[in-house]
Amino acid sequence: MKFIDEYRDPAAAGRWLAAIRGLVTRPWTLMEVCGGQTHAILKYGIDELLPREVTLLHGPGCPVCVTPLEKIDRAVELASRSDVIFCSFGDMLRVPGTDRDLLSVKASGGDVRIVYSPLDAVRIATENPDKQVVFFAVGFETTAPGNAMAVYQAKRAGLGNFSVLVSHVLVPPALEAILGSPSCRVQGFLAAGHVCAVMGYSEYIPIAARYKVPIVVTGFEPIDLLHGVFLCLKQLEEGRAEVENQYARVVSELGNRPAQALVREVFGVVTRAWRGIGEIPGSGLGLNEAFAGFDAERRFDLSAVGPRPEPAECIAGQVLQGLRKPHECQAFGTRCTPEHPLGATMVSSEGACAAYYQHRRVVGGQEGSR
Ligand code: SF4
Repeated sequence: MKFIDEYRDPAAAGRWLAAIRGLVTRPWTLMEVCGGQTHAILKYGIDELLPREVTLLHGPGCPVCVTPLEKIDRAVELASRSDVIFCSFGDMLRVPGTDRDLLSVKASGGDVRIVYSPLDAVRIATENPDKQVVFFAVGFETTAPGNAMAVYQAKRAGLGNFSVLVSHVLVPPALEAILGSPSCRVQGFLAAGHVCAVMGYSEYIPIAARYKVPIVVTGFEPIDLLHGVFLCLKQLEEGRAEVENQYARVVSELGNRPAQALVREVFGVVTRAWRGIGEIPGSGLGLNEAFAGFDAERRFDLSAVGPRPEPAECIAGQVLQGLRKPHECQAFGTRCTPEHPLGATMVSSEGACAAYYQHRRVVGGQEGSR
């Protein structure tokens, strides 16, 4: 299949690995930003094929994982109301709140519906004028245009029974938070290609210059990842710190300008809390005042649902910052499994703990490939 087969070609992978081996002269630590990249790396064993000098850390780019516990509890509270139809992408349903997840609300009779587009939730609101329809608007820059379009269309249609529970986050402030931490070990980033398809990569240029780290916009197939690693290592070996675009078949420097304009019209930049990490200034999107009437947190009284502590043994916050790996968690694969998760990183399709659980065998705290 075009754009798939050539990016999974074993012979091409062998050539990139040989090129990487010929390049590396000392240890380097890179971070892949996106959880989708983490899953591909674990699935294809790319981290094990790389020379031992190269360490890959897994980054915070899993929107489900970084949605704060308080926001999940608010979703559960809304979904439990008899007058609410709560709409969400399917990967949010198993994310544990303090006491319950959305799936258990659905099992006990709550009207929780999985949708494949935020516009489906707008349609459901149109078809159910006697109900309040709430869409769980979670995600990075990738999903922001679709969610902005849903709110924009609801406003244009004068829908008074549609609102969104917003937990949007932005990648560049998270990279800066990681780079600014005294415990940061990251020397180069593989940036998330799909985020840059929307936003372009010009935002990364000052970050690469300020922190002197190479940032390579990278795709999600094995050859993309090996090529991205090669470009990043080449910069490090040559003493350069620039932004490069491995994913040029999808990403341009300026990105999708109409999508960015729509996002700017509906959303503004706000300080956002990241689950397990804490508040990062300017790291999220919230509805602009012109669209504030569609904010579920203004429409409903959710003041009783405040911040709650995370399960003490869950180290997902450290995993999301590349400080620990999933198998270093004492609960991994025992008290925390996809069936009984303690943290979101174990249930999200982009979660690092889920990736290790699916693709890596862990025996006595030591990891090994399946
Ligand atoms: S294995 Fe479970 S408890 Fe441990 S960090 Fe991952 S999600 Fe949290």
